[in-house]
Amino acid sequence: MTVKLLLDRKREGGELAPEEIRALVDAYTRGDVPDYQMAAFAMAVCCKGMSAAETHALTDAMQHSGACLSWRGLSADKHSTGGIGDKLSLVIQPLAASCGISVPSLAGRGLGLTGGTVDKLESIPGYDACLSLDGFRRVVETCGVSITAQTAEIAPADKKLYALRDVTGTVPSIPLIVGSILSKKLAEGAGTLVFDVKCGDGAFMKTRADACALARALVDGAKAAGRKAAALVTAMDEPLGRTVGNALEVEEAIQVLGGRGGKDVRCPGDVVELSVELAALMVSLARGVALDAARAECRANLANGAAYGRFAEMVKLHGGDLDAFASRPRGERRVVTAPRAGYVAKVGAEGIARAAFGLGAGRAKAGDAIDFAAGVALAVARGDRVEAGQPVAEVVAAAHPERLPQAEETVRDAITLADEPPKAYPLVLERMQ
Ligand code: URA
Repeated sequence: MTVKLLLDRKREGGELAPEEIRALVDAYTRGDVPDYQMAAFAMAVCCKGMSAAETHALTDAMQHSGACLSWRGLSADKHSTGGIGDKLSLVIQPLAASCGISVPSLAGRGLGLTGGTVDKLESIPGYDACLSLDGFRRVVETCGVSITAQTAEIAPADKKLYALRDVTGTVPSIPLIVGSILSKKLAEGAGTLVFDVKCGDGAFMKTRADACALARALVDGAKAAGRKAAALVTAMDEPLGRTVGNALEVEEAIQVLGGRGGKDVRCPGDVVELSVELAALMVSLARGVALDAARAECRANLANGAAYGRFAEMVKLHGGDLDAFASRPRGERRVVTAPRAGYVAKVGAEGIARAAFGLGAGRAKAGDAIDFAAGVALAVARGDRVEAGQPVAEVVAAAHPERLPQAEETVRDAITLADEPPKAYPLVLERMQ
């Protein structure tokens, strides 16, 4: 293989053969292809795209660059492309496990405005999110679900390529994103994959067309690799649920798991509805049962404590202490009030995330410390009527309480008030199978 000739062909929009792509990825993983050539390849793909066959070959090569797991019986996982206040994995993974499906879930830490699922779980004192693959397997086999950080053994080619893409302007390419996400999820071994592709201001995919194209490519790629797959494209213009920030989101997820969510959640970003929808898709695809029956089972398992039981067992097996979490130091709080009377027309996801980030809930670069207590707790949702001076949110910080006044301003600016109630819009924009 002469890498320069492959680059010439790709630059001109030509198609590479599967064995050429495999040879390139293998050589890059071994260190035989330098970063500058791989960066040129990534840029050529960004500009010229990839055929479905090329995307499949890239995914397959990255998947097989490391360990590939497999599971006895029915298994499923959900992957979200990430949104503000997206604590759904904390609910969905144990909920699907409570319906008899094994849920092995390798998750990420956050980079950018808010923490990832692993950061959220690490806000529970003692939770070890760095299990070995053997430890991961033991927890899944014991309680049906484990959420742990991706290990170095899984898709090492993606780890290397993603870091390179991050600094060479080559992240926004659908074939590269599909290869990156799918290589990890396929290596994880679940037989069914459900994707939640977020779309809007607070998401990676800003337009519906881009989000749909990514969802289609993820589903097709997973099926081409022999898995059952489906995707929802869901709105992400407003935060999901009422909290943004690691410990705050865990607390909200625990309320939902305990059957207490939905009682006062009237916003379109309803954590209960979307959790039930996505968990039911996992269950219906994995078990081959009707979606309505799976929805009913999921709702029942939220109400009867079965889903919470799985979550609590998983946390315990990971060394976490939910009593210590319940009595953790809460940080300092500052109330944000409405500047005028009106209807909440929009709770801007991006603005709320920036406020949470400013308080210390996210990290600017890998390795930065996170303030687990920091974040934003909303008291209102889109469509609510508020009076002047009424509390609309609280901003919370433990490590940097001096940043609370700035965050208060940012949150106030992110909440738009209007004289008329806003039009409702659906949370689920598209379904793909
Ligand atoms: N998430 C990933 O894992 N990879 C990408 O390329 C983009 C988002």
